[in-house]
Amino acid sequence: MRMIFAFAAACLCGGNALAAPPHYDVAAHFDPDGRLDAEVTITLSEGEAEKAFLLSQRFAVQPTALPHGVTMTVEPADSPMPALNRYVFRFAEPHAEPVKLHFRYAGPIDTEHDSGNKPLRPEGYELFLDHMWYPVGADIQTRFTVDATIDGLAPDLVVVAQGDVTRTPDGVRIKRDFLDIDLPLVAMRGLERAEAHGVEFYSRDLSAWRSRQYIKHSEAAARYFEAMFGPLPRKVRMAQVWRERSMGYARTAYTVVTEGRAGSPEDSEVGPGRHVAHEIAHAWWMLASPLTDDFWLVESAAEYMSMRYVEQAFGAEELAKNIAAKREATTKAGPVMGHGRPDRVQLYGKGPLLLVDLEHRIGRAAMDRLMIAMAKEPVHTTAIFLRHLTEIAGADAAREFDTALHT
Ligand SMILES: [Zn+2]
Repeated sequence: MRMIFAFAAACLCGGNALAAPPHYDVAAHFDPDGRLDAEVTITLSEGEAEKAFLLSQRFAVQPTALPHGVTMTVEPADSPMPALNRYVFRFAEPHAEPVKLHFRYAGPIDTEHDSGNKPLRPEGYELFLDHMWYPVGADIQTRFTVDATIDGLAPDLVVVAQGDVTRTPDGVRIKRDFLDIDLPLVAMRGLERAEAHGVEFYSRDLSAWRSRQYIKHSEAAARYFEAMFGPLPRKVRMAQVWRERSMGYARTAYTVVTEGRAGSPEDSEVGPGRHVAHEIAHAWWMLASPLTDDFWLVESAAEYMSMRYVEQAFGAEELAKNIAAKREATTKAGPVMGHGRPDRVQLYGKGPLLLVDLEHRIGRAAMDRLMIAMAKEPVHTTAIFLRHLTEIAGADAAREFDTALHT
């Protein structure tokens, strides 16, 4: 997701050959009683006039000195989550030198606005962007590198995070030199670790049928997609955690899925296979803004690729069942585009079906060329997709698909 335009702009107007992406230095203390104390320094190297961050209102923020030439205002915000504060920094002139912004804050780790996932549970912690526990770029697409030191973690918590992860006696050091919009983390008791091609997998019971299916199909889906798109940039760390509400999400080289029922060999493999194939597909499909119409290029594209995997792994009949279920579920779905971020049914049902229909119209070979060309793009927008579609299958096909997205 997405800062590439801004990088390019910074390079041009700042006269700065290679502006570094934003970098976060995080020092945090997790109190087992559920309190977070944090100090976050954000280094901005781009010559922007203004930059805004969101942080949950549950944290009390201590005033810190602003760098020379920088002013800041705070206002309440309710998007994309309720109960946020929006910190807007304005820079007197486009800064040629990096600017460091400091946040010091403390408050409860848990929030009532947790997307159905309590950050602190009896098994340990699961934290990600929705918890708004660190200053998140207000565009929800500011990608950054990070050095984080977190202490207050009991020795029996197994930490799953991105990048280099080093456990300390009472905490963890995370050094991530690749970009992501999030600082996601699972620290839970009893997680066991397994490795396969494309995936490093964590679960409380690796012998459970569902865990074995997740590993098997992560590996097989990684190989299937790699044959199309080239090598997975990084092995995916995948944690399977127990939750009241089933959901999954993917970040760069990191995925969290729900433990659910252990399952048994009498169960169908299609469900777990489709689920992890969708998450693995996000390695190539995560570069559109989550706040805009274009988000179908994240979720609908990953879901379409998982349907392709279902066909390859389980046969045409299983794919036909999946398509029929999606047609049934989307009879009342509104247009995918034209109203901001699409809803769930549009993202996971209608969008993938439009891609299936497109494949039928232009043929699989052209569809593959289209998806491969798109996967190479550093930023995913509908305009870029339609440009590739025009080049590959002609203006009529592109116009028709654009109309279908808006119908
Ligand atoms: Zn997804």
